[in-house]
This record gives sequence, structure tokens and C-alpha cells, in this order.
Amino acid sequence: MTERLTGHTLLISLIATPIRHSMSPTMHNEAFAKLGLDYAYLAFEVGNEELKDTVQGIRAMGIRGSNVSMPNKQAIIPYLDEVSPEATLIGAVNTVTNLDGKGHLVGYNTDGIGAMSALKDEGVEVNDQIITLTGAGGAGTAVAIQAAFDGAKELRIFNINDGVFANAKETARKINENTDCRATVTDLADQTAFKQSIAESSIYIDATGVGMKPLEDLSLITDPAVIRPDLVVFDVVYAPRETKLLKFAKEHGAKKAINGLGMMLYQGAAAFKLFTGEDMPVSYIKELLFKD
Ligand code: NAD
Repeated sequence: MTERLTGHTLLISLIATPIRHSMSPTMHNEAFAKLGLDYAYLAFEVGNEELKDTVQGIRAMGIRGSNVSMPNKQAIIPYLDEVSPEATLIGAVNTVTNLDGKGHLVGYNTDGIGAMSALKDEGVEVNDQIITLTGAGGAGTAVAIQAAFDGAKELRIFNINDGVFANAKETARKINENTDCRATVTDLADQTAFKQSIAESSIYIDATGVGMKPLEDLSLITDPAVIRPDLVVFDVVYAPRETKLLKFAKEHGAKKAINGLGMMLYQGAAAFKLFTGEDMPVSYIKELLFKD
């Protein structure tokens, strides 16, 4: 890898904390190498306190772009020059470009696009569909807004009555005001409504992170009657690759049980396109990084 770096190499950063576990540096650097693009992608341990200086550094050093992860996805917005319409609605940015290196920073959010592309890759269309979604935090909001932009007929959001519930309401309001999709929010404690909603949906998406450590023994669906042969189940978690929910969905005959790896891959591919103008070689990256 190092012999391809030169004095002309352009830098793309990833700013988040904790971040050392991220697959993004490997994914982007392998894609740059495959396409012979003179870029390098490095992760930097940056939290909210260092964020302002870091953004100044991106401008001052002509870093050509950056991915942004927690806890900086919302906090970075005031430091940017422009924010795309979908990132504005989502209220979070995961990709920043500085295309000519002159310091005009534009923020985007590719998480929702990643989720929708992952579904498309599995032959699942959201257009005109009724979708039940659990979770309305960072991932859930991106998924909800993009699904609405991509023509979902109805989005039924279920959230526990915690600090995120108000954000779920706000997301539904934005969707109802800005798209043709009808969005509702219900307390997940209303299990009758939750089961009824899934019964009327073709897609169930879990964007809560339940199923990931330390909640790896939990699934928000425990009643086999909820799973049908025409129901697609999508969990945004990718570690573990098979959450309790996905195992349960498979065992009880769901049409598809999809994990978050595709979302991870395609949010990266959309960012790669913004950084370089080139298509990420997704089949190559999939084969290299994501084969079981
Ligand atoms: P967040 O903290 O912003 O939101 C968490 C959501 O889950 C909230 O709606 C919260 O109310 C809900 N929740 C929390 N505990 C719950 C419980 N016990 N029962 C029911 N609901 C509960 O988190 P986030 O940033 O949205 O991340 C959520 C998950 O999405 C994480 O697992 C993260 O790794 C994953 N993610 C995956 C990708 C990808 O590319 N595949 C991208 C972003 C996030």
C-alpha cells in the first residue's frame, strides 16, 4: 500500500471516536488501490471537543473530504459552508467534501442512501411499500428520510419512550411536510399496534442497534406469528452478522433477512463517489471484505 503514496496523494479523513474498529479505511484504501486513484484514507480519533480545530485543519491542509461518525455527525453542521437537502432533513452529516481543496465544505448524509441501495441489491424496492421501522436515532432517521424520498407509501415508526421519541415525532413531521409518504410514530410499548403494523407491512427495518453488544441476546420481535413468507426483515447491525432478530426471521421463514453490511458498503460507495467522482468497485470490495 505505502509504495503507491506520493507527494501528490490526496487525503480523505474519517473523524469520530471510538473509531479504530472501523472498516471504512480498509474499504476506501482498497478501492483507491484497485482503481489506481492517488488518494489515501485515514481515521482520526476526534470527538466534539477537537471538532472545530479539526474542521479548520481540513480547510487549512486541503484534505479533500472526510467521513464523519459519532459523536460528530450533528455537531459538525455549524462548521460547514453548505449542507445537502437530505442531510439537512436528517439533521446529521456523515460525509464532507472539499473538492477543490480550497476549503468550501459541503456536508452530505449517505447512510440512508446506503440502506436503500442495500435493499435494492437484495431485490427489495421501497417504492409504494408500507414499512415498519424501529429506532429513530441517527441511523433510523437517515433510513426514514431516504425511504420517504425514495417513494415509500407509509412509514410506521415505533420507538421506546426515551429521549429519542421527540426526534421520531420531528422526523415524521418533516416527512409528512416534505414528501408524499405518510409517517406516524407510536410507542413501542404498544405491542398490539407494533404487531398489527408489521402484519400490514412488506418490510420491517430495525435501526435500534438492539442485537448488538451488550444487547446481543435481545430481539424486538419474539412472536413467530409476526414473521411471514412475504416479509423482508432488515437489521442495520452488521456485528454480529446475524443478530437474534435475523436468526429468528430466517428460522420462521421470512422472505429475506438482511444485515447491515450492505448499508455499510453502500454508504461508503456513495461517499467514495462524492470524494472522487468514481464508482467504488463494490463487487470487488464485497468479495474482499464481506464474504463470510
Ligand atoms: P442512536 O443511539 O442514535 O439511536 C438508537 C435508537 O434505538 C433510538 O431510537 C433508541 O430509542 C432506540 N433504542 C435504544 N435502546 C433500545 C431498546 N432497548 N429497545 C428498543 N429501542 C431502543 O444510535 P444510531 O447511531 O442510530 O445507531 C443504531 C444502530 O445502527 C447501531 O447498531 C449502529 O451500529 C447501526 N448503524 C449501522 C450503520 C450501517 O452502515 N450498517 C450505519 C449507522 C448506524
